[in-house]
Amino acid sequence: MNKKYDNFISGQWVAGAKYAPNISPSNINDVIGDYAQADAVQLDLAVQAAQASFPAWSTGNIQARADALDKIGTEILSRRDELGTLLAREEGKTRPEGIGEATRAGNIFKFFAGECLRLTGEIVPSVRSGISVEITREPMGVVGLITPWNFPIAIPAWKIAPALAYGNCVVFKPADLVPGCAWALAEIISRSGIPAGVFNLVMGRGSVIGDPLVNHPAINAISFTGSQSVGERIAQQCALQLKKVQLEMGGKNPQVILDDANLPRAVELSVQSAFFSSGQRCTASSRLIVSDGIYARFLDAMKQRMATLRIGDPLAAGIDIGPVASQAQLEQDLSYVQIGEAEGGVLVAGGQRLQCGTEGFYMAPALLTDTTMAMRINREEVFGPVASVIRVKGYEEALAEANNTPYGLSAGIATTSLKYAAHFKRHSQAGMVMVNLPTAGVDYHVPFGGRKGSSYGSREQGRYANEFFTIVKTAYVGD
Ligand code: NAD
Repeated sequence: MNKKYDNFISGQWVAGAKYAPNISPSNINDVIGDYAQADAVQLDLAVQAAQASFPAWSTGNIQARADALDKIGTEILSRRDELGTLLAREEGKTRPEGIGEATRAGNIFKFFAGECLRLTGEIVPSVRSGISVEITREPMGVVGLITPWNFPIAIPAWKIAPALAYGNCVVFKPADLVPGCAWALAEIISRSGIPAGVFNLVMGRGSVIGDPLVNHPAINAISFTGSQSVGERIAQQCALQLKKVQLEMGGKNPQVILDDANLPRAVELSVQSAFFSSGQRCTASSRLIVSDGIYARFLDAMKQRMATLRIGDPLAAGIDIGPVASQAQLEQDLSYVQIGEAEGGVLVAGGQRLQCGTEGFYMAPALLTDTTMAMRINREEVFGPVASVIRVKGYEEALAEANNTPYGLSAGIATTSLKYAAHFKRHSQAGMVMVNLPTAGVDYHVPFGGRKGSSYGSREQGRYANEFFTIVKTAYVGD
């Protein structure tokens, strides 16, 4: 009998009408627990609870708010090993990566605890005599937070912490593939002193409760991270309701390698960007754009480095890459390798399913060469350990190919030239640019987000998060 984990609604743990097993991708015989599946009725109760709690929470004592967020951050940090292990078990990241993600989540709550005390406004003179103008920011109200499976604790943290810090009430719907970290986070929040109803957890499928959450009339804003197809649908639904929306979606991030790059460094950051966390980061680089003069040396060094990668049980020591997150993801990754080959790409490393002791979704990271930007392998998000190489004549062509994509989340360049680094920073059509660094790996206290098809609405994280979670009021005060 598996342990059952319930939804958290109005300060109570509430049984689901149904439960779904949470199965480890590294060993399908390892069931982490059975997690409640909310239905539309429970979702409505959660929204009502959040709505009822909003007046008191939004005008309540900011010291109490800061203390609660700080307490959540402290507990996450003190339990980072345990939470990181749970994360590795349910999502497939390696344990060190899981612990790193849990640490990030704890730090985010600490950062936003401070933000509770840094709320400011402006008082400006009026153009009319005897009047002053006050510009303040107020919370949006009840916000719906919808998260994907690939960062099961950090993405919930970077939506929940600012939402609460700026005075909103929350209905949180995690990805149905990874409810374990979401539940653990909700359990910590439930003991933080935050009043009943301010924070609610509803677990279940997007089609069953995500859709009614987006369309609930009492939800004032939706923050979503996930795929472009679901994001576009949510944007349309929010537009029809004139509802504020923030979307973080897919990527097809380029990593440019110029002739003058430091070769070992370029190889290491390419391997990091493309394959670590099984390539399942929205900021992962799946397009390696390599200039002629370094091409052969880069490819040789990449193949050598890839041969040393240790793939296996994410909970074991010394593993670089765990499984991919699900059977469906594995099938998608393997099928894109075939698509790339059918389009004329040459598979020079990996690309096959692996057996790693336990029955899990393991795959050897794949590298395809001889690819062009006309190919699907370079236009569509794979979201797995699959990278392709695009050969270019020099910097100008590299920049053009880097920007030749409907996405624009993150972009990297490996070069020792200040001129090219500076030009790339300015002309890359991505929200985040990395010079001699992997495309993935960002700080938690600065804005995060992309351009074009990768993002819609205002930025997440850091102080910029308040653009989404607050609304501006202008008050005129006469003498
Ligand atoms: P997904 O779009 O399938 O699901 C994301 C969330 O939306 C889940 O909670 C899901 O249950 C919910 N959902 C599904 N259908 C819905 C509907 N009709 N209405 C409301 N909610 C619905 O994405 P995923 O497979 O969980 O995550 C992978 C994707 O997330 C990739 O495309 C990746 O690039 C993207 N991602 C982006 C960022 C970023 O910040 N840009 C970060 C991480 C992941």
